[in-house]
Parts: sequence; structure tokens; C-alpha cells
Amino acid sequence: MQSHLADIVQPLLTWYQANKRMLPWRENKNPYSVWLSEIMLQQTRIEAVKQYYKNFLRQLPTIEDLAQVEEEKLLKLWEGLGYYNRARNLKKAAQIMVEKYHGKMPTKYEEIVKLPGIGEYTAGAISSICFQEKVLALDANGLRVISRILASKKDILLPTTKKEITKKLQNILPPEAGDFNEALMELGETVCLPNGTPLCEKCPLIPYCQAKQQNVTREIPVREKKKKRKQEERTIFLLQKEDKIAICKRKKTGLLAGMYEFPNVEGRLPKKQIKEILKGWNLEVVTIQKIGQAVHIFSHIEWNMVAYQIQVRKSNTIFQWVTKEQLEKEYALPSAFAKWKDGKTKKKE
Ligand code: SF4
Repeated sequence: MQSHLADIVQPLLTWYQANKRMLPWRENKNPYSVWLSEIMLQQTRIEAVKQYYKNFLRQLPTIEDLAQVEEEKLLKLWEGLGYYNRARNLKKAAQIMVEKYHGKMPTKYEEIVKLPGIGEYTAGAISSICFQEKVLALDANGLRVISRILASKKDILLPTTKKEITKKLQNILPPEAGDFNEALMELGETVCLPNGTPLCEKCPLIPYCQAKQQNVTREIPVREKKKKRKQEERTIFLLQKEDKIAICKRKKTGLLAGMYEFPNVEGRLPKKQIKEILKGWNLEVVTIQKIGQAVHIFSHIEWNMVAYQIQVRKSNTIFQWVTKEQLEKEYALPSAFAKWKDGKTKKKE
């Protein structure tokens, strides 16, 4: 039996009231907290975000604090979350809020969406959850749920599919848009799970779900295969002089822009070539030992890394030489490099 999409609204809202998880950012509807959590949750799992979120707010409790924070401290607070431009954009947006909006989040969707790092989805979430604006916030979870409700075979990675579903949802959006948005996401995260494993028996929308009725929940949503990631070989140098280790800063643009790293070069180099590079860096080798290999996956590129621990006779001025304690406390090291921090042999990940 065909149902109207509007039929899902009430059962979804009722289910949400009874089943929503208590998450730290749901304790209040403070726009700063909601904004921060939404940005952290992009590309990162809820469980991983919780600790970062609490720590970030402990260190930078207000938008003014965020606007003034030094980049090094900001990146340290973000260390391990990846996609570091998200953190830089938070600061830029906070500065605009201080300059233009008395240190507060603007209250209208149209103003929020113009801030750096805030796209349509995040602006929709903030304005509907914090300011009760009747705006949609549709993420991948919501898209999956609605694709299944409609048994849509369209590729959800295509902007046209998202646009079409957005339009349909805008027509049925209730006045409690914030709750509706959160309910749809919550259902996608906890019940209408990805990878062909929805828990339909727990779903309040089962009577309205065409994918369930047609027995095609495993095939929906349709996602055309992404292009293969570029593979890149890298040799990592863990250069040690007594209790110090060499680090350097990456370029201001591109992958991991402005982050710290262990010296490294493209390619998988034989020891002879490694020694030549070290000579070029004015370093005299005492010992050199291969300690392992690992893979690190970014969104468009995959690094296949091999690391060498190298004791040198004298440090040079090309790199910064820091103790392990300094590295822990003061420098933000992206996960691709953090795995080598202890210098132990690692198995291929
Ligand atoms: S019935 Fe199953 S497939 Fe349909 S929305 Fe609910 S959980 Fe998803």
C-alpha cells in the first residue's frame, strides 16, 4: 500500500521523544555547543567525539575564547580528529561572531550559513535546534532513511538526489523542525543502519517503508562506487639525538596544512638512498633501523608508509628537535604520524 511521506512525521517525533540518546551536546540547546558538536561529528564517530567535545569546551568555554585561541593550541585540541581545516574554520567563524554579532551565534539561517565552515546542513541543524527556525538539516543518515522509505534507487551520492529528497522533506517539515531533523538522524544512526543491516523490527516507520514492503532494504540506498584512492608510498624518518626527536611543519596549503610531522619523503627508499638524504640534511648516522610499516587512509589518498628509527650524532637546524614530553603537550601531530610516536615496531595496519 502506498503511503504519503507526511505520514512519517508524527510516529517519528513520538519515537524520538521516547528513544533519543542522552548525548553531551543535547544537555542544552546552546548554539556554541550544538555548532561545535556538529562540526566535530562530520567524518567522526559519536563515541570518539564525546571526549574531544568535553575537553574543547573545558579549554575554550566561550565563542570569545575560541576567537582568540592560538593556532597551535587549537590544533592540539583537534589532534587526532583529522580534517584540521574544520578547526581553523571554527576559529574564523568565532572571530566573525565577535566582530559582528557581539560574540554570539547569529540567529537566522541565512546569516549562519555564510559563516566559514558552515554549510547548509550545519546551518539547518543550528537554526532549527537552537532557534526553532523551520529549516531542514539533512545528513547522510536522514538521506538513507528517506531513500528506504521511498524505495528510491537513485544514487544518494548525486547532488540531484539530495536536492529531490530535500524538496520532499521541506514540504512535510513540521513546526518542531529541530526535533524532526534530530529524529531522522537518530533513526538512521541507531535503527535504519547502513550496509544493508537496518533493524526494521525496532523501527516506528515500518508501516510506511516501501523498501521493507518490497524486501529491498539491502539494496537501498544506492551508492555508485567512488573512484579509487590515489596510492602513495612514503618513507618516514624518526630521527633521534639523545632524548630528542626531529619534527617539522608541513606547508601552509594542501593535505594536513600547517600541521607537524616527522620528516618524510615520497617513495619507499633503500637504505643507501636514505643515507644520502640524511647527508643532505647534514646528519651523521649512528644507527638506522627499519621499525615497521603502516597504512593511513585520507579521503582521496592512501599513504603506504615505512618508518626508520635513526640515531644521529648531532642535530641540525633544518628541523625542530623536541623531547617526547614536549611533543605530547605542545605539538599537534596528525594520526598518520602519531602512530610512530613511540618508535616501536608496528605491524602493518
Ligand atoms: S523499516 Fe527498516 S528500512 Fe525502513 S526505515 Fe525502518 S529501519 Fe529503515
